[in-house]
Parts: sequence; structure tokens; C-alpha cells
Amino acid sequence: MFPGRSAAPGIAIGKAFRVQHTSNTARQTENISASSVHEEQAKLDSAVERARLELREIINSTKKSLGQDESAIFEAHLMILEDPEFVAHARASIENQLLSAQSALQTRTEYFISTFEAMDSEYMRARAADVKDIGQRLQNHLSGQACIDLSNFSEDVVIVADELSPSEVSNLDTKFVRGLITEQGGRTSHVTIIARTLEIPMIVGAKDIVSKVSDGDLIVFDGEVGEAFVRPDAELLTKFVSQKKQVDALHFENKALIGEASITLDGRKVVLAGNIGTPRDLVVLKRHDAEGVGLFRTEFLFMDRASMPSENEQFEAYKEVLQGCMPHMVVIRTMDIGGDKELSYLKIEKEDNPFLGVRGIRLCLQNKPIFKTQLRAILRASHYGKLGIMFPMVSSLEELLEAKALLEEVRIELLKENVPVAKHLQVGVMIEVPAAALISDTLAKHCDFFSIGTNDLIQYCCAVDRMNKTLVPLYSPYHPGVLRLVYQVIQSAKKEQIWVGVCGEIAGNPNLALLLLGMGLDEFSMSPASILPIRKLFRSCSYSHLQSWVKEILELQSASQIEHRLTELLKTAHV
Ligand code: PEP
Ligand code: MG
Repeated sequence: MFPGRSAAPGIAIGKAFRVQHTSNTARQTENISASSVHEEQAKLDSAVERARLELREIINSTKKSLGQDESAIFEAHLMILEDPEFVAHARASIENQLLSAQSALQTRTEYFISTFEAMDSEYMRARAADVKDIGQRLQNHLSGQACIDLSNFSEDVVIVADELSPSEVSNLDTKFVRGLITEQGGRTSHVTIIARTLEIPMIVGAKDIVSKVSDGDLIVFDGEVGEAFVRPDAELLTKFVSQKKQVDALHFENKALIGEASITLDGRKVVLAGNIGTPRDLVVLKRHDAEGVGLFRTEFLFMDRASMPSENEQFEAYKEVLQGCMPHMVVIRTMDIGGDKELSYLKIEKEDNPFLGVRGIRLCLQNKPIFKTQLRAILRASHYGKLGIMFPMVSSLEELLEAKALLEEVRIELLKENVPVAKHLQVGVMIEVPAAALISDTLAKHCDFFSIGTNDLIQYCCAVDRMNKTLVPLYSPYHPGVLRLVYQVIQSAKKEQIWVGVCGEIAGNPNLALLLLGMGLDEFSMSPASILPIRKLFRSCSYSHLQSWVKEILELQSASQIEHRLTELLKTAHV
């Protein structure tokens, strides 16, 4: 067994195809005579030209097949290619140091890589892989070697590589490549992002695996677990084959529900939306037929980078999602930084209890220029779609009113500048602090919708840190205290005739989703892969039957009783 780290979920079964990059073996520096300078420079120029043409082609094709965000990876490669400090510098050193084109390029690439690798930010360190990729592309042209081709297989394979470049992965044979395993690679690597978009299971950090497997060895793994098994015995193989069959059968059944309404047998229609973190996730939303976005966690646009995204950069991201989701609504949550989410470039004073500290709306109200920039970007984007905007971690009416006043201030500023802003946009609150749930009757009078963030509501209601592994049994969505709060919030929303959704994990949990449906919830926002299974479930149930569960469940006394009873009821839910 080869331990690694989970990078993209799914069950992989296939024969090993090993990839070991020659660039990892150091090349000797080659000197040339003064008379060869022009010849070597011409070789470099032609390699650069060919790489430029290739990249333009890749940008066009990835834009179509994977989307704008993935193609941006190669736009960045093009920028490296155009950077005078890179190729032009290498060109000069052919003349000044009498280096061959290959050596000049290698020296410059290594310098760039080590500069990026020494940077503080994880994001910038990960960019070293992009330089390596473009350096390898140029070296291939200089040496006449073809790029490693992973685009054409005739049987199921698992690629086992020292590392993979975005160029290699964007060109994968998606019909036969069943999994990816690399020795290197991190959380922010572009390759893992592409793998997730393509829904190819992936493990990273599987130490020394390339030298320990042979081409053709059978490999199985579960991308969510992050352990690879080489040459599995019959029992293990049967287990993986049956897991994969189940997953594939479900996929197939679920696909039939694409385009169908999210409606119960007796006509109660609800919205099944997706939770996303970046515009890149639009592809996945579409694949799972999401009816809009119920939670756009915008803080991801601010993370893994060296500085704050500009207003324009944010505007482009919000606009892309709003346009891409039409005619559905997109609920953009203003940034929820703090707690476990830090920004290296925003100095937050060290706190003893970050989850109870300057987080979400509190941080925004303490850093108004940053907050207003985000609100400007969101309002500018509102012109391009159907927007809902909501504030995280609200615990009092004053916070909501202050945030709304700032939003209005920004709206008036934009209108004065003649910037178009949508006439109709909805303003809501995330209900994730028990105090907010308890005053939801008051909050409901001041907003257009609620979205219940049960991930946090559970931790604050039960005083259980959601990150603490040893407290997992206490972090229960079935806790009667949590469910009573959720019910109270739904009731408050109904009374004021505003819509109410849940965007915490429980929205995609079958038996809890049914209970929420019975409680009258209007919108369920979840990880996109859960949407079709939940639609299937809802379509097989009757709302009036589910309503009859609510009283009984709310009268039970413990989480375990509730979980047990809901599991029983789930079996009777289908009419
Ligand atoms: C929640 O708290 O339920 C939620 C959806 O927000 P996050 O998980 O981003 O804190
Ligand atoms: Mg939350």
C-alpha cells in the first residue's frame, strides 16, 4: 500500500502507466564557440515561437472543454514566455556566457523555479510548477523530443508520475485515464484542480511510487481515502470493482434526472442549488444540473495568493458566475475570513479562540475599505444576473443593519458614477450563530431570505469545535437543540413570508434533507455531486407525509434517538 494525500475523489482501477520526467536529471552545462551564438539564438527563438503557437491552441481548446479558469493557467504560461526576465535573459546569456540554447534556458528556468520556491506564500511556491512546465515545453522543442503524450490510450490506465504538468493533464485521454497518482503536488497545484474538474480520482504525495511499480501493474485506489494499492489480491480487487460499479450505476441513474424538476409527488417544488468556491466550479454545477448557487464562498478568491484581489478581479469572477447561472439565482456570501481561514497578507491579531473572534461580518465591519471594495464588485456584477447577497456570522440586528447601510452607500456611489446596478437584488443573512436563530423573527423583518449555515450552527449551538477530531461524536446535526433552532428559523421566515434555505452539509444528507423538506424549507444548497441523488429522493416522496414527521422528531430527546428514528422513517418515505 502506498500512502498519499487525497486530491480528487472517486474510485480508480487501471493498469499503471509510469511517467518519469527527464528534466529531473541534471543536464551538464554546454558551452559553444562564439561563431555558434546566432545559430543557438535562432534555435531558441524558434522553440519560443512554436511554444507560443502551441499555448495559444491549448488556451482555445481548454476554454471550450474545461472553462475560462483552466485556460487562464496557460495564459499565465504565455506570460512567463513573454517575460523579458525569462527568455530574453536566456537569449542574452547565449551571447554573454557562450552557453548552448538548452543550457541557457535550463539555467534561467532553474533560477526562476528556485525564486518561486523560496517565496513565503504557498500560492507563489506552487507557481514554480508552471515555470517548470513552460521550461520543459521549450526544452522539448530544442531537443526535438515530443511532450509526454497522455492523450491516447486503448485500455484503462492509472497514470503514476513523479509529477504532472498542467499541459499534460489538460490533454488527458478522459475515456481511458481512470486515475492519477503523483509523488509530488499540493493542495493548490493546478493539476489537482483540473483533475477535480474532470472528475478523475487523484492522489498526491505517494512517495517513491514510480520506482516501485512497473508499467501494466494493476492499481486501485479511492481518491477520497488517499491510499493506492498495487497488484491487489482477488478479495481487495472485488471490493473495489463492486464499489466502482455502485458509483457508476448511481451516476447513470442520476443522469436521467437532469432537466427534471425538484418536486415531490404531491407538487411541493423546491430549489436544489450548489455550493461553490470559484467560477471554475461552474462546470461541475452544470454537470449536476444545479438550480443556481445557494452559497458562493467568496473567501476562496482571497486565499492562496500574495495580495488582495482587486475590485475588477473580483467583479470578473462574480460576473462570470452570475452570467453562467442564468436564469437561476446566485447567492454570493461576502467573505468569511477568520476562524480557520486566514489571509497571509491581512494581519489579524493572534486570537485565543479564532472561531469566536474577528470572523465573517465582524472582520468586514472592522475593515470597511476591504468590505466596500467587495460590495462594489458584487453590485457591479449584479447587472449581469440574478443576485442574492448574504452576510456570514451575523449575531445581532445592529450588524445586519450596518452591513445593509454600507451596501446602500456603495450602491448610491455606483449609481452616481453611472455604473449599472441590478434594480432587484435580494439581501439575506446566514443563520449560523444561535443568537441569530433566536432573534430570527426580528432579522426576518429586515431581509429577503435566510440561509441556515448548519456547519457553524452545530458548532456554536453545541460548543463543539468543528475542526476537533476527538469531538466528532459530539458534533451532531441530529442534536435536538440544533434541529429546534433550525425549525424556529424556518418558522420565522414563513411568518415574514421570506424564503429560507440551508447551505450547510446537512442539505445533502438524505434523511435530514427529508426532515427539512417536511419543515417547509424552500432551498437546499449542497456540494453539486449530491444534487441529483437528493432530487431523486424528493421526487419519490410526498410532502404531506414528510410534514407529519416533524412534530414527532422535535419531541425526541437525544441525537441518537433522532438519528435512529429518521433512518427508520427514511425507509418508509418512498410512496
Ligand atoms: C456553514 O457554516 O454551514 C456554512 C455553509 O459556511 P462554512 O461551512 O463556509 O462556514
Ligand atoms: Mg459558516
